[in-house]
Amino acid sequence: MTPYDYDLGIIGGGAAGLTVASGAAQLGAKTLLIEKEPQLGGDCLHYGCVPSKTLIKTAQVYQLLKNSSKFGLPSVTPSPVDYGKVIARIQSVIDEIQTHDSVDRFCQLGVKVEFGSPMFEDEHQVMINGRKAAAAKWVIASGSSPAVPSYAGLDQVSFLTNKELFSLETLPASMVILGAGPVAIEMAQAFNRLGTRVEVIQRSSQILSKEDRDMADIIMHNLRQEGVIFHLNSTVEAIEDAGGARSRVTIKKKGDEQLMKLEAEKLLVALGRRANLEDMGLEKIDIDFSPKGLTVDKRLRTSQKHIYAAGDVTGSYQFTHAAGYEGGIVLSNAVFHLPRKVDYTTIPWCTYTEPELAGIGMNSKTAQTAGIEYSEWMEEFKENDRSLTEGNQVGMIKMLLDGSEKPIGVQIAGPHAGELLNEWVAVMNGGVKLMTLAGAVHPYPTLGEISKRVAGKPLARKIFSDKIKKGLKLFFGLKGRACDV
Ligand SMILES: Cc1cc2nc3c(=O)[nH]c(=O)nc-3n(C[C@H](O)[C@H](O)[C@H](O)COP(=O)(O)OP(=O)(O)OC[C@H]3O[C@@H](n4cnc5c(N)ncnc54)[C@H](O)[C@@H]3O)c2cc1C
Repeated sequence: MTPYDYDLGIIGGGAAGLTVASGAAQLGAKTLLIEKEPQLGGDCLHYGCVPSKTLIKTAQVYQLLKNSSKFGLPSVTPSPVDYGKVIARIQSVIDEIQTHDSVDRFCQLGVKVEFGSPMFEDEHQVMINGRKAAAAKWVIASGSSPAVPSYAGLDQVSFLTNKELFSLETLPASMVILGAGPVAIEMAQAFNRLGTRVEVIQRSSQILSKEDRDMADIIMHNLRQEGVIFHLNSTVEAIEDAGGARSRVTIKKKGDEQLMKLEAEKLLVALGRRANLEDMGLEKIDIDFSPKGLTVDKRLRTSQKHIYAAGDVTGSYQFTHAAGYEGGIVLSNAVFHLPRKVDYTTIPWCTYTEPELAGIGMNSKTAQTAGIEYSEWMEEFKENDRSLTEGNQVGMIKMLLDGSEKPIGVQIAGPHAGELLNEWVAVMNGGVKLMTLAGAVHPYPTLGEISKRVAGKPLARKIFSDKIKKGLKLFFGLKGRACDV
């Protein structure tokens, strides 16, 4: 028995904290979970994945309505969007999911949930709501917040981040988005589809800059065709109030002498995240951190070995599924006492635009940086019958193979790319051979056939080679082509 009140204390009730809390309590650890907001669930449920994906679906339906004639249906001019109703739908989805993340449910699992702001008093003890609580081990899972840049004038205007975006009362007529990462691009398409005039400012020459250019360009091209305006290679010079509740952003495009002024009703700042490290008394416990987040080793231990960190607060892979994965690693080390290290090689990701852009493992950029020799294999959605029946001709799958023809990465830009990627999640985690995937019968017509097709390409090159043809001719007397162009 330890002299502490709890075996495990967790700060933060988001994806990472909740994973650790439910696992630890079910394993019999006396667990305290502290959350500073009035509800559990974290950013993903309240201001991130759930509201954004709900909004994206609504925007997709509206887009389909507007494009009904493309499907041989009567053309429709739908009424303007009542954003209040959209928000109500978003809230109802959040409420539904909130029941999975309720205090009652966690209490039933055996977790003591406290709401408030804990402050470390020493390495084992925090002060919470005027009481002391000590735990043998702690997990810091306090997540991240939107990073706000120090652009001249930004502090003089009102701007939105993902925290305010899903509670606006009316649909903005226009929006300027700073940044072109996944959150920015998803929201650019969704708001544009709903009727907002959207302009995106990006410093570099490509949107979704971690992705390969050819894949990111597929997304940008589609968004452009739908009406999103992109200002690439552009830096923000100044931001000011333009009167009439509008903001003005002055930008400078690389190579252009003249500055350009953009005006919009709303300004959305989507320029990345910063770890939530403040107001926890971390200065009292001598723990290492950098601007990126808490410093952890491969077992997710901080410089205080009994204090672990998981999720966005470590600054590594800022996804809900990565937070859940890291929560599992912490459980293994802190509760099971089984040393387990993180391995991000097969962490997948997806940007939920239409078409979606999903990936796992290496892309050409990361393979080149790592100096790995690889070959690229592509298959386009316009060759996939199901994609055509769905009215989609856009996108492709790209597979990277190493020298021994083992898949080291796959990216898909196309319809339901995130769902299609799951087959590759199994392939890459299970070490499934390409031949197995290529030989496995997939139902026709499905989008998933694209994975079988691309997996079969390196094999097809060998099977249908001149060498094999010559051999067959020699042994079986095949006569060769029956038709020549
Ligand atoms: C708009 C948007 C869309 C996104 N979409 C996706 C997506 O589609 N898929 C995906 O995988 N990821 C998505 N993400 C990322 C995802 O939301 C995060 O990676 C995930 O929430 C991280 O989980 P976490 O537990 O680390 O942090 P959080 O979920 O943020 O949880 C941290 C919790 O700690 C609490 N906390 C903070 N400080 C303290 C403190 N001092 N004391 C007590 N409690 C504290 C916070 O209130 C919060 O509840 C999206 C993010 C955004 C912003």
